[in-house]
Amino acid sequence: MEDAGTNDARQHDLHFPPLLNGADYLVSVVEHLTKDAVGPRDLKYAVLHLQAAIEVLLKERLSREHWTLVFYDPGQASLRRFHEGDFESCTTKQAVQRLRSIVGCDITDDERNALIALATDRNALQHYGLTQNAHAVEARAGRVLDFLYRFIHVELINPTLGTEDQRLSVELNFVSKGVRSIDAFVKQRMRRLRGDLKGSEPRTIDCPACGQNALILAASRPPLPHRCLFCEKLYSRAEIMRFHLTRIEVRTRRACPRCQESALIDGLRVASETVSSPVCFTCNCVVPEARDVVADGLASQDI
Ligand SMILES: [Zn+2]
Ligand SMILES: [Zn+2]
Repeated sequence: MEDAGTNDARQHDLHFPPLLNGADYLVSVVEHLTKDAVGPRDLKYAVLHLQAAIEVLLKERLSREHWTLVFYDPGQASLRRFHEGDFESCTTKQAVQRLRSIVGCDITDDERNALIALATDRNALQHYGLTQNAHAVEARAGRVLDFLYRFIHVELINPTLGTEDQRLSVELNFVSKGVRSIDAFVKQRMRRLRGDLKGSEPRTIDCPACGQNALILAASRPPLPHRCLFCEKLYSRAEIMRFHLTRIEVRTRRACPRCQESALIDGLRVASETVSSPVCFTCNCVVPEARDVVADGLASQDI
């Protein structure tokens, strides 16, 4: 929002400069993520440019709704400071929240979490260097890229159709191809892992870090750490339970019909099941017979 081009664009009622800017960042992200061997430096620039794209694109949509929405505190917004680009703008978390509640954009909880997690990656990267597992960052970046690609079409291009810009469509075609090849990379890796996951399907749930259905709950107790085969991240029982219990407000733990412990959490995606299912974190596996007593709303949450 700080650059002068954005303001000029708005005064002339042309929306392409910020959009082009955002698409440019996405092209760079795609270039870094689709190399044959993605190194730490590629991941670094992919994350930085993806974050830059998020900021430009989300704020562009907000400012089309109302210019005060890009201020950190809309109550303190001033038109003069907006035109001069001299203001503290909203955080990614605030932008997503305003897009959902004020603009009415369709952003799922998973997408919101991926956007916010990427902002956290970016901050960690700038202060400590990227120490997180590369596969998790890559999978997350792929998901955010996919989201932004759709966001551009649904929220930013469709409303301005009729003012088509050739250069923009060239850039977007490139981004589109990149999204498909990153998606292909994730699918390919999941296919390679299928053999390792075989037999563990009732114990395989989504990994909070990379979002892939590749986190295997350890079979034995006292527990070994639970491990995601996609990104190699290890989790303690408490960590994984805390994640699921805080993810959606209504989610609570209840007694497991097999072990009687209060360690059953509903609505998880499990590799062996076709619908979201209750998982017991003491038995460390899905407990399909506990599904019958769950309200329909809960059971279908993650689908
Ligand atoms: Zn993972
Ligand atoms: Zn149990």
